[in-house]
Amino acid sequence: MDQEGTRTCMVCGQPKEEGIQIVTEFICTSCESEMVNTKVEDERYPFFVRQLRQLWVRFHA
Ligand SMILES: [Zn+2]
Repeated sequence: MDQEGTRTCMVCGQPKEEGIQIVTEFICTSCESEMVNTKVEDERYPFFVRQLRQLWVRFHA
């Protein structure tokens, strides 16, 4: 049966209730705050950038 009120986060791939919708994609609150606090020198930064770039490309296409 479906989990009502949950969406799959595009970053962590987990079903979450809380988060933001960007165009057609969903990012949970924990990933969102992680991204905001991720510094350029952080090893996860390229991963976040790549995930977000997919959104920008789709959004501006
Ligand atoms: Zn997430």
